[in-house]
Amino acid sequence: MSIQALFPTLVYSARLAPPRARRLNPRLRAEARQLEADDVAGRRWSQHNYPGGYTSYGSASRMHRVSPTFASLARELDRHVARFARQLEFDLTGRPLAMTDCWVNRMGAGGAHGLHLHPLSTISGTYYVATPRGAPGLKLEDPRLERFMAAPPRAARGSARTWVTLPVRAGMLVLFESWLRHEVPANRTRTERLSISFNYGWF
Ligand code: FE
Repeated sequence: MSIQALFPTLVYSARLAPPRARRLNPRLRAEARQLEADDVAGRRWSQHNYPGGYTSYGSASRMHRVSPTFASLARELDRHVARFARQLEFDLTGRPLAMTDCWVNRMGAGGAHGLHLHPLSTISGTYYVATPRGAPGLKLEDPRLERFMAAPPRAARGSARTWVTLPVRAGMLVLFESWLRHEVPANRTRTERLSISFNYGWF
C-alpha cells in the first residue's frame, strides 16, 4: 500500500540573522511608535477595526516606500520570499513577485485579530519586532475546513490538526500563501506585541 500527502500547505518560518535583527528592531520599534503618535487617521481607524491596539493597515500601508528602515527590512524579506516561492514551485516567469504593502501592528493588552485572509495578494507574512513572554502566536486554519462536512473530529497532535498555532519570537518571520486563513488570539499579557505585516503580489 502507499499513502501520499497531496496538496500540502506550506508555511515558512525563519529568523533574521541576529546581528541584523539587533540593529533593525530598535529602529523599527522607534519608528512604529513615532508613526502611531503622528497617525491621527490610523489611530481612529484602529479604534473601530483593531480594538486594543494600533495598526497602520488603513492609513500607512506602504511603509517600505516611505521609510529607509522598513525598506531595509523589505530587502531582507525579499530573500526569504524568493526562497519560499521556490519551495512552492511558483513559475514567476515574466513578472516579479514584489512587496505591495507593509504595515505596523501594535497589539496591547486584550488586543486580538480575528480570522482573516489577505485578498488580492500572493504571499503574506509577518515579521516580529517585540513579543513579550506569553504573547499569542500565529494561529493558522486548515484551508479545507469548509469542505469537511461529515468528517469526524481528529485526535491529531501534529500537522493534521484543524488549527495550528505557531509560537512567534522577536526577530522571526513567518510566510504563507495569502489565501491561508489566520488569526492572532487575544494578547493576555500586559506588554505590547509589535509586528510588521506585509503582502507580496504577482501581477
Ligand atoms: Fe493577516
